[in-house]
Formats: sequence, structure tokens, C-alpha cells
Amino acid sequence: MQTNFTLAQLADPQIAEAEKILRACVHCGFCTATCPTYVLDGNELDSPRGRIYLIKDMLEHDRPADAEVALHIDRCLSCLSCMTTCPSGVHYMHLVDHARGHVERTYRRPAVERFMRALLAWLMPYPRRFSLALLAAIPAKPFAPLAGALGLKRLAAMLNLAPWRGPRAALGPQVYPAAGPRQGRVALMAGCVNDVLAPQINAATIGVLTRHGIEVVLAPGAGCCGSLVHHMGREAEALAQARANIDAWSAVDGLDAILITTSGCGTTVKDYGFMLRTDPAYAARAGRIASLAKDISEYLATLPLAPRHGVSGLTVAYHAACSLQHGQRVIRQPKELLVKLGFDVKDVPEGHLCCGSAGTYNILQPDYARRLRERKVRTIERLRPDVIAAGNIGCIAQIAAGTELPAVHTVELIDWATGGPRPARLGR
Ligand code: SF4
Ligand code: SF4
Repeated sequence: MQTNFTLAQLADPQIAEAEKILRACVHCGFCTATCPTYVLDGNELDSPRGRIYLIKDMLEHDRPADAEVALHIDRCLSCLSCMTTCPSGVHYMHLVDHARGHVERTYRRPAVERFMRALLAWLMPYPRRFSLALLAAIPAKPFAPLAGALGLKRLAAMLNLAPWRGPRAALGPQVYPAAGPRQGRVALMAGCVNDVLAPQINAATIGVLTRHGIEVVLAPGAGCCGSLVHHMGREAEALAQARANIDAWSAVDGLDAILITTSGCGTTVKDYGFMLRTDPAYAARAGRIASLAKDISEYLATLPLAPRHGVSGLTVAYHAACSLQHGQRVIRQPKELLVKLGFDVKDVPEGHLCCGSAGTYNILQPDYARRLRERKVRTIERLRPDVIAAGNIGCIAQIAAGTELPAVHTVELIDWATGGPRPARLGR
């Protein structure tokens, strides 16, 4: 695609990067067919190509974002399905990340929206605050339908997603020694939302790793990866959270890998090198941390896992989280691990389409998120599985809110199949 940036504009490394991405797009439109928002409504402006045009026009003219640009950028899930489809290698993720920052800096949203976004950014990356919010949500949960009927759709979406039980204490910094001779040493990213909503995921991860001779470190000072605020365009906060993690993990010696069980976070941590490329104090370390980052399934695929008898035969609908399949291109490993351990794994048709979770998307865009969830749940239920497995807490919570089927993290099944406890959601 031809672009018309001035030399002065191109002196800004962020604009130079955006221009490089824009030039790669040949506006063939292949990406539209796999874009969830385009598939739902068929609106070109809610397709990757349409958004690319909007971003190009805004950046070339150095214009503040307006309500129309904000609307269509906000509706993008950052699912990155378009990147998988694109034959020209357009790095849509970096382009839309830049655009979200531009929107945040230059567009004044309506007051309610500003409040909601500020609240989510203040709450979700911080486990203590998030835990208190979940406690407060329990008595309010029965009023979710009323909130929806009154038009308070975002409040209704939040209440629907909140669990009925109170949060458990988040894991603090500590070292979990390997059982038997040590074969490796990894840092585990405990995460923020993940650890509060579903502590059993980290427990299963620590269980399976230590049983297989891997020492697990939860580094002091590591916290939210930054993706929640990054996807809201709050760049300074996202970079501060990334720097805190880089400091925390750089202080730990002898790490073979940094393991992440929430694939949305994994995509961001693997991008730290890019995000901090212009920061001389952090660029090199950010690149090193990014190169150590691995999804838990990537790492487990390198270990000689020992299956135990008696857990095979369950039919698992494997939901490929967008951040895992499109963001990190980790596709085979989770399914191969489950098959190897005796599960009957079924791919979900239309697996390239997002379930509508996407960080805070299911709260900020409740209508699109609900329609995508309903579509996803319909396709999953047709498979008649015993359990749904996914590698991302956001997808698990989103899908579980729309079905009676149990939804668990892939690592919970792997832990169970190699000697850990049966996931509680499977019942007796
Ligand atoms: S598929 Fe790639 S090159 Fe074609 S319009 Fe979409 S982003 Fe542009
Ligand atoms: S990231 Fe997903 S929602 Fe956004 S344009 Fe690409 S395919 Fe569409």
C-alpha cells in the first residue's frame, strides 16, 4: 500500500514502524473472511482492512482520533486472526497497538466510558484490589439480568463473569523445589487475574513441573504483564508493568525459561523486546526476557511426561485461545500433550474465531462478546465433549459463563493425567 508520510513524521520511530506495516498491506482483503467482527456484521470498517485504512488516514494526517475511529478500533478484539490469514505478513498487532495509544492520547471519550476504563485499569492488574472487587460482586451477581434490562450492559457483563465463590489468596514470591534430582529451573508468571480467578491453574502447573524435576520460582516483584492496560492504549502503564517484570525476572539466576499459563499474557511478554526497543535502559534485557518466555505447553512438550493409568477416555473439546494460536503460533503442543496422555481431543470447528473474551473486551464490548460466546458455545456443545480445555483464563471464564460444560485449563488435565489431583470442575 502506498503511504504519504512526511520525512518529519518518519523521524518518529513509532510512525516509521507503522509506515513499514502499512506498506506491507496489499489490500487483498483475505483477512476479512477470518475477522470475527466482520464475520458477525459484514461491515468493512470492522474488518482488518477497514481498520488499517482508518489508522493510515489518521496517522498520515497527524489527526486526533475521532468517535468513528475510536469505535472501530475499540471493536477490534486484537485476536490476531487476521495476522494468521494475511499472505503479506502485515504485523497488524503492532499497528493496532500503536493506534490504540494514539486514540487514548488524542480522543476524549464520553465520561462514563472514561470512568469504566480507568476503573478496569486500576482494578484488574492488581490482585488485592481485584479480589476485593470479586467479593463485592458476589451479592450483586443475582442482579446481573436487571442491570442488563436497565441498559447497564457493562455492569451486567462484569457480574456475569464474576465467580460465585470468593477469591483465594494469591501466590506470593517463593521457590518450589523439584521433587528428586533437579532437571531445570523456571520462573512462573503467576499473573494477576489468573491467580485470583483460578489459582488451581498455577497449582497444577507447579505440581506437574516439580514432579518432573523442575524447580519453579515465583519472583518477587513480578506482576501483571501489562496487556490489560496495553490493549486499552494506556502505553505508559503497560511499559511500567513490563519494566517491573523485567527487573524481577532479571534478578533470578539460572532460569531456563519464564513460563506463562495465560496465553494473552504470553503474547505480550514475548513482545517485550519490541515494546521497549527504544528504551536504552531496558531494550537488551527486554529482548532477553522475551526470548525466555514460553507458554506452559511449549515447555511441557520438551519434558518426558509420565502418564498414569485411569484418566483416559474423556473427550476434550480443545479451544485454541487466539493469543496462543494467532499471537504465539503455538498450535500443536497443547493437543499433542493431551492426546499423548490418553484424552480424546476434538478440535472446535471455526476454531480460528475468537470466543469474545479478549482481555477487558467482554466488559467493554458486551454485545459483540456475547454474540461471539454464543457462537463458540454452540459449536463446542455440538461436539458433546466431557470437558472444554483452553490455555487462557479469559477464554475459560468467557466460555464457562455460557455453558454447563466444565471448562478447565489444559495444564489442569495434564497435571491430573501425570499424577496430580482431578480438576474440581470435573466433579467426582
Ligand atoms: S490480508 Fe493482509 S495484505 Fe490483505 S488486506 Fe488483510 S492485512 Fe492487507
Ligand atoms: S485482530 Fe481480530 S478483530 Fe481485530 S481486525 Fe484482526 S481479526 Fe479482526
